[in-house]
Amino acid sequence: MAGLGDMDGYEGTAAVEVGGSRFDVQVRLRGHFQPIDGRYHWHGRLSAHEGLDGVLGSGKAAGVLTTAEGSAPCELSEPDPSRRYRVTGISTPPFRTAGAAAGPAAAGPGTAGPGTAGLAAASPAAAGPGTVGPGTAGLAAAGRATAGQDAAGPGTGRQDSPGPAAPAPLPGHVRVAIIGAGLGGIGAGIRLRGAGVTDFVILERAGSVGGTWRDNTYPGCACDIPSHLYSFSFAPNPDWSHSFSRQPEIWRYLEDVTDRYSLRRHLVFGTELNRADWAAGEARWRLQTSRGELTADVLICAAGPLSEPSLPDVPGLADFSGAVFHSARWNHDFDLARKRVAVVGTGASSIQIVPEIQPVVHRLMLFQRTPAWVVPRRDRAISEFEKRLYRQVPTVQRLARLGIYASRESLVGGFTKRPAILKAAQGMALRNLARSIRDPGLRAKLTPDYIMGCKRILISSDFYPALCEPNVQVVASGLANVDGNTLTAKDGTSCEADAIILATGFHAVDAPIADRIYRADGMSLAQSWAGDMRALRGTTIAGFPNLCMVIGPNTGLGHNSMIYMIESQLNYIVDYLDTLDRTGAAAMDTRPGAQQRWCDDIERRMASTVWTTGGCVSWYLNAAGRNPTLWPGSTIGFRRATRHVDPAEYELIPQRRGTGR
Ligand SMILES: Cc1cc2nc3c(=O)[nH]c(=O)nc-3n(C[C@H](O)[C@H](O)[C@H](O)COP(=O)(O)OP(=O)(O)OC[C@H]3O[C@@H](n4cnc5c(N)ncnc54)[C@H](O)[C@@H]3O)c2cc1C
Repeated sequence: MAGLGDMDGYEGTAAVEVGGSRFDVQVRLRGHFQPIDGRYHWHGRLSAHEGLDGVLGSGKAAGVLTTAEGSAPCELSEPDPSRRYRVTGISTPPFRTAGAAAGPAAAGPGTAGPGTAGLAAASPAAAGPGTVGPGTAGLAAAGRATAGQDAAGPGTGRQDSPGPAAPAPLPGHVRVAIIGAGLGGIGAGIRLRGAGVTDFVILERAGSVGGTWRDNTYPGCACDIPSHLYSFSFAPNPDWSHSFSRQPEIWRYLEDVTDRYSLRRHLVFGTELNRADWAAGEARWRLQTSRGELTADVLICAAGPLSEPSLPDVPGLADFSGAVFHSARWNHDFDLARKRVAVVGTGASSIQIVPEIQPVVHRLMLFQRTPAWVVPRRDRAISEFEKRLYRQVPTVQRLARLGIYASRESLVGGFTKRPAILKAAQGMALRNLARSIRDPGLRAKLTPDYIMGCKRILISSDFYPALCEPNVQVVASGLANVDGNTLTAKDGTSCEADAIILATGFHAVDAPIADRIYRADGMSLAQSWAGDMRALRGTTIAGFPNLCMVIGPNTGLGHNSMIYMIESQLNYIVDYLDTLDRTGAAAMDTRPGAQQRWCDDIERRMASTVWTTGGCVSWYLNAAGRNPTLWPGSTIGFRRATRHVDPAEYELIPQRRGTGR
């Protein structure tokens, strides 16, 4: 970047593609990371260009801007009197930013460790995850958090790193391109190497691996499936510190696994997939990324079911006078100590955040639309003796894992067939509530009126105690309006706040990545789904040959580890590649009839589940009230269904002459 001082930005030559034409222009760009949506917002002006005038006139248009440093989708509008168009984008910017890679990377995870009341900014470079240990009350602001995990990385080993290494160059063509370096993308890479496939890249928009476990750095963030189960079956970790390990440790585990399985050479960081087009003539995917183009025979989409924060549409929120950020884009620069803090939402993230911040804030207002069923979290530190035993006799750890898996799986009938089975657990949750909350008014607010399991069951032993503290107010109504620093709930309750934490979940049923994947006739996956995600065996989609999704439609769980489902899908994907090789086909396209039969069966089974019959509205359901997210069966059933590809479910697309691989 030249000539813009210490601001993030770019000044120089660029090319803009709009309306099928490409124009060489000069551009001056600036931008900043916006914690409210965890995205990079950038803008600037293009030099005047007659060709652009001809295409645009005074109208607006979408295009793609490419600078010497990258490319990104943009919008062109508002020509000034000299006919210089304004260019704006909300994405990984087409220029390097001061804080490593843009996007979620810039949010700065890694600053506060588990159990940390570390609600202010410790520089991540000085305190990566694992540096600030559980129970640390690090309240002081220290330095800038925007360098993010990319500079620090999980664990103390890379604390002094000056920043991310330059991203690896993009290859022109690969056999397989994997999008995303979370558990799904890393797992896919490991399985591909295991199957002898080495011609692949993992494109990751952030600056490090980790996905969920890199981006969610809020105080108290931990898994809610025990760690011995919430880890890859082929990469057990005997050193988990707790039964429910905290985010820094899980993130560190993913970094370790990446090294252990030699994945670094395949990883390309700071590279966001902007658009993927199936080129039918060549039988391959054409990928446009923030750093250039490449092609791939097969596209594995592991962009994450919960990677795009969902922000509530509350009037006045954008003009709130204090700090506002999403739980998955924690603002470590903002010191919550002695502030009036509103937390919006009472889901899985909120109940981990509230007990952590309650002791340090002046006042905490919790906006709750619907109360959750909460059961105690039986967490404990794992002793040194146990860790040694797991290291020396791995079978013991495998048995421990199997025990956890079996006890979780024993609940599946309650979720999918006879919700009455969950009544016993519901009784336990009610007793937990009665024991923990003495005030009948508060207890009434916190008592769910739907069957347990209908929404995600939450586990916590310190959420209810935190709500009983005098500085906490539970507003049993959703946030309706923000005016200056005054927040008003739907029931009229109002209060003032210095900060709003949006623990409002993710775009789970509308998979934003689907807007970026196009079939041969130009229809996007989002258009093809029309708000209702569907796939064959949760993985492949009719009309989109050689596209495999990890955690695709109807693969989520309410009761067990998602890693089990990911590993099942990876079996299927490896067999998919093997089937291509065996048959000599260039590509396989899912037969619509096969996909329909699979979805009909899901639909039939979904009818008896607690998610359909439990009397609640949850994030599992789409606007039409259908559940496109969860798997309505046992995980063993899904494992069986994804063991092998049935070629009869696919149309094989032959190699074209001259395009052999
Ligand atoms: C706070 C939290 C706690 C959770 N706890 C549990 C738990 O205890 N047990 C459980 O089973 N599940 C849990 N989950 C669900 C969890 O998301 C999954 O278990 C798992 O981590 C998903 O992995 P993934 O790789 O599919 O997605 P992610 O981890 O979300 O990774 C997706 C990656 O894709 C990248 N990406 C996205 N779009 C693009 C693009 N266009 N170009 C390039 N890169 C892109 C993202 O940056 C990200 O790195 C939890 C989720 C959250 C949010």
